[in-house]
Amino acid sequence: MQVKKTLFWLQSGGCSGDTLSILNMDDPDLFSQFQSMGIDVLWHPSLSILSPKEQDQQIDDILNDRVHMSYFCLEGNVATGPDGTGMFDTYRGKPKKELIQALAEKADYVIAIGTCATFGGIGSYEIDDMGGVGLQFHHNNQGGYLGADFRSVKNYPVINLSGCPIHPKALELTLNLIVRDLPLELDELNRPKIYYGISVHNGCTRNVSHEYKLEDTKFGEDGCLFFNLGCKGPTTRASCNKYLWNEQSSKTRAGVPCFGCTRPDFPMPKPFFETEKIAGTPIELPEGVDRAQYLAYKDLAAAAAPEGLRKLHNEKHKK
Ligand code: SF4
Repeated sequence: MQVKKTLFWLQSGGCSGDTLSILNMDDPDLFSQFQSMGIDVLWHPSLSILSPKEQDQQIDDILNDRVHMSYFCLEGNVATGPDGTGMFDTYRGKPKKELIQALAEKADYVIAIGTCATFGGIGSYEIDDMGGVGLQFHHNNQGGYLGADFRSVKNYPVINLSGCPIHPKALELTLNLIVRDLPLELDELNRPKIYYGISVHNGCTRNVSHEYKLEDTKFGEDGCLFFNLGCKGPTTRASCNKYLWNEQSSKTRAGVPCFGCTRPDFPMPKPFFETEKIAGTPIELPEGVDRAQYLAYKDLAAAAAPEGLRKLHNEKHKK
């Protein structure tokens, strides 16, 4: 018999977008997912009906080991501001960061939901008094709120499911492994490779245009969005073009450049829909390529673009 697992979901410095995203899970839906995995939701702000008093009691039970918590999910960053007090985000008059720390220490697995909880996200740049940090990272730097050495009861670091918002598949794939206590392989940013092991570029329907450097210069065309319109697909790890959003589409399929929402530096304080360039070539290139070789190869590939494809692109470009 499968042992019942329990999940506690807390919201902190965020916009609830991750909750909206997982509520859109539809094949199967969120409730069927939890049911089939044997997960009992102790608390979720959009799904639970406990009164404030009952919720206080539940938290007290968890913190005093009367109720077991298998998964502690945090949505939103940990607010440490203003001036380190944490009073930007409170729970019953106390800084919520204290509750976050106490709950994290009790969980079998701690899961950071979305880019704010993983890397800080919106509210994590110095211009913001909120002092938002990720649970175990601040942007690229390990540490975050809980510190680099933090390990959950099952000896895992915080499992980072970045995304603004999270893709429902990232949560589903992760839970499916950990409910069975199967090993979860993580990347250097503690994200499950099962979802974050490939880039948004993988599976993009515009790959053939990228290959032959058929570039878009304005929205509504069907070339590659990397060279002018700021697409970060090749530098952003996520399976958006493998597992489509709402089983239907992705940003790049809809003609919108990937703006890198799973990256630790998101939201970059730069224009989203513009490619930063040096001497006419993008500053950021696909992960792992040699700059000089890539640029030489791209020029050759552009010259070698099949006539039919180039003609089609040029015709659309003129419109
Ligand atoms: S639009 Fe973006 S993801 Fe698609 S091929 Fe171009 S660079 Fe890659």
